[in-house]
Amino acid sequence: MLKAPVVQVKGVGEKLGEALIDMGIGTIEDLLYYFPNRYDVYERKPLSEIEHNEKATIEGQVLAEPTLTFFGRNKSRLIVQLQVEHMVVKAVMFNRAFAKKQIHAGDTLTVTGKWDQHRLQITVSNYKKGEANAHEPIQPVYPLKGEVTNLQLKKIIKNAVSDYSGQVEEILPAYYIEKYKLPRRSQAIKQIHFPENHQLLKHARRRFIYEEFLLFQLKMQLLRKRIKEATKGHNQEYDKEKVELFIKSFPFPLTSAQKRSLKEILLDMKSVNRMNRLLQGDVGSGKTAVAAICLYAAITAGKQGALMVPTEILAEQHYQSLTTLMDGFARVELLTGSIKGKRRKDILERVQANEVDILVGTHALIQDEVSFHHLGLVIVDEQHRFGVNQRRMLREKGLDPDVLFMTATPIPRTLAITAFGDMDVSQIDEMPAGRKPVDTYWVKDNMFDRVLQFIHKEVKNGHQAYVICPLIEESDKLDIQNAVDLYTMLQAHFASELQVGLMHGRLHSDEKEAVMKEFAANQVQVLVSTTVVEVGVNVPNATIIVIYDAERFGLSQLHQLRGRVGRGDAQSYCILVADPKGEVGKERMRIMTETTDGFELSEQDLQLRGPGDFFGKKQSGIPEFKVGDMVHDYRALETARQDAALIIAENRLAEDPHYQTMRNKLKEESSLQGQVLD
Ligand code: ADP
Ligand code: MG
Repeated sequence: MLKAPVVQVKGVGEKLGEALIDMGIGTIEDLLYYFPNRYDVYERKPLSEIEHNEKATIEGQVLAEPTLTFFGRNKSRLIVQLQVEHMVVKAVMFNRAFAKKQIHAGDTLTVTGKWDQHRLQITVSNYKKGEANAHEPIQPVYPLKGEVTNLQLKKIIKNAVSDYSGQVEEILPAYYIEKYKLPRRSQAIKQIHFPENHQLLKHARRRFIYEEFLLFQLKMQLLRKRIKEATKGHNQEYDKEKVELFIKSFPFPLTSAQKRSLKEILLDMKSVNRMNRLLQGDVGSGKTAVAAICLYAAITAGKQGALMVPTEILAEQHYQSLTTLMDGFARVELLTGSIKGKRRKDILERVQANEVDILVGTHALIQDEVSFHHLGLVIVDEQHRFGVNQRRMLREKGLDPDVLFMTATPIPRTLAITAFGDMDVSQIDEMPAGRKPVDTYWVKDNMFDRVLQFIHKEVKNGHQAYVICPLIEESDKLDIQNAVDLYTMLQAHFASELQVGLMHGRLHSDEKEAVMKEFAANQVQVLVSTTVVEVGVNVPNATIIVIYDAERFGLSQLHQLRGRVGRGDAQSYCILVADPKGEVGKERMRIMTETTDGFELSEQDLQLRGPGDFFGKKQSGIPEFKVGDMVHDYRALETARQDAALIIAENRLAEDPHYQTMRNKLKEESSLQGQVLD
């Protein structure tokens, strides 16, 4: 029984058993699925190709009986003279006195160890009698924790594989095994631990990658289906004519990408299923306009709407723009953490009494004290900044509204279908007409004077500038210090010619608001800021953004920052001041100067950073795969996604006996994660 405790495996005593449990290995099955994270390759090489100090494997004839000497306390050295090719090589084995009884003149011996080219000597870490190709040249290296060694793991896994791998059940339907020519599960287990050769290892990995991706996709897609179907009664019967009138009140026509996304969202809202949709669009592509229309549609259906954003500044901005856009159409209120006392109480009461149509705010919106009269639609802006928990909290508020997530950091398709496989996706991939792409330049630190001249010139022409100061990841305090220093420096530099403002996260929200107001009214021409202006801030008259120490930012963040300019009719500029040391940093600067397409950028960012880092450390939600890699194995992931869609569409899991084991496996995994699948 594979579910039996791991101590039943030969070689696992009580003590080791406990250490294994600490490593998350409780059962025989767990041990079988404890895969190596890499392999040491010991392939036999001709002596002439082995470098000094290289770890290598050689094979030779034992020339004479080995000589054994003892030294120190319990220490020994066994020397074996080997004829390798046409040379005599000394194989040295420490503390293996017992080997003297096994190795004799005339034997063929294969040894692995560190090669000393000058002394023609190999210090043996591993030896086997017989020819080299009769042994495993590819050795597993396991992730370790605690006291357990690789050697121990290798031994017990070998025992487990030989005694139990026969019991491993196939979970992939035969159809796919044949279609993709995958090894069977029990075979693949053997090969992934103790590969006979590279080819077989590759197939074993291919199999587990596909298996892992398929299971993942099935889970995600089932979940998505379940969310949709289990929460019926979400049909918001909005008033089409009123919505059209509202759109007509805009000073611009919608782009066709906006229209398309809007149609998809409204369709979701109208349907009885609950909406769970992601709206992706580059900075300035007009997501907020679309959001306003959807919120208004909810109002015409007799419901309330909420717009949730990550920061107070952004909340205030959205509040301003919604109030303007919806003037005469809806009653908009703002609720953030810094609104307190009587004012807060008053807002909460009016929300409950349905005297507020749309509530804009930060996380405060999902706190217990807020209770809506009838919440129909929640829009979450900058979705990736919201953790999985907040998403769940929203759902669990019991209101179960339609939910639209918006993000201006376009998520590469690769990630969208994995991390967000439980969502539908709409995309605004077109900018409003007349937008000029931001010209981006990369300059070195020593050109800062020229940059200042350039700012001066633009300001003379009536424009404004952002100067984003160095980012120091570990320290909020240092960030602020940097901002203050830079602010002082620029103030001195521009003296009486123009006004410099300062913005950072530690300012009181009144102060922030005051600075932003001054900047928006062009009373301040140059705004020195930390990255708090990163998201959403909208001052169309600003045409320059200078990003100091740009190499410290990721591509997506640079792109976000760049999105602060290029919002009006005038040509805008982004100047990256950076002296990147590494290749990745240089590559980032180069990419920034070459493309302004957020979707392309995010793909490149993903390539440079890898999926784990893409959303930053805290923001998880991204699954960890054991064997597969979302970026490198993207094609397998896409294949698995399509297969999963078909399996679910045809209801094979429930109806087809060939899918029984797959179904069981899914059930087992999802019950571990506290979900119910049916
Ligand atoms: P996002 O939220 O995607 O960053 P916004 O909705 O804030 O973009 O739009 C950015 C700017 O473009 C705003 O000033 C907005 O009024 C304007 N805008 C939005 N849609 C259009 C459009 N279809 N045509 C012209 N301007 C638009
Ligand atoms: Mg926006």
